[in-house]
Amino acid sequence: MSKESYAEVKQRIAAACRKCGRREEEITLIAVSKTKPVSEIMEVYDAGQRVFGENRVQEMCEKIPAMPEDIQWHLIGHLQQNKVKYLMPRTAMIHSVDSVRLAQTISKEAVKHGIVMPVLAEVNAAEEESKFGVTLQELEGFLKEISTLPGICVKGLMTVAPFVDDPEENRPVFRALRQISVDINNKNINNIYLSELSMGMTNDFEVAIEEGATMIRIGTAIFGSRTVR
Ligand SMILES: *Cc1c(COP(=O)(O)O)cnc(C)c1O
Repeated sequence: MSKESYAEVKQRIAAACRKCGRREEEITLIAVSKTKPVSEIMEVYDAGQRVFGENRVQEMCEKIPAMPEDIQWHLIGHLQQNKVKYLMPRTAMIHSVDSVRLAQTISKEAVKHGIVMPVLAEVNAAEEESKFGVTLQELEGFLKEISTLPGICVKGLMTVAPFVDDPEENRPVFRALRQISVDINNKNINNIYLSELSMGMTNDFEVAIEEGATMIRIGTAIFGSRTVR
């Protein structure tokens, strides 16, 4: 049952926060509901969850009208330019901005709708070939380019860490993301202040919390395993 799993995840978040002296309010839990039907998502909604994440535009756009209006929907998966228009204006945040062109497209659509879209820059912190995101080396230049665009507000960084057996293996990845956000903030660059770190999934969210995550994206631990994706 998703409801019980959800309660368990909340307890694990609380325990991780106690362990490293952080407050639970510092962490936004994003319940990743991709591939799951509205009926199951509603169970978790009824248990109190209001922030959900989807990785496909079409799936998210089908779920939005079928679910209560007070849900904040986060787009966490790779985003194609031609899908951006469908995301406006109901999306609370886009986590996966990984190119200047994509940022420009989001900017243009947001301006058209008269909104400012909160976004995160996706970083391929472990430099995996199969992953989207800019490298740590490219990040500062990338942020300088996209932060001047109208209609978007860069709130922070996001990474999808490698799939590993032992979550400790991802600690250096999370630490590197946190460190680069601190370094960039210390440079006081116009328009750039990174306050959010979206990192940590089912397999490694406790380590991510210890390393400074402000948003964790959890699917499997809440909804059970997915048969696809
Ligand atoms: C699916 C997905 C998650 C959640 O993964 P779990 O291991 O099921 O918690 C988090 N982030 C992104 C980008 C995803 O696509």
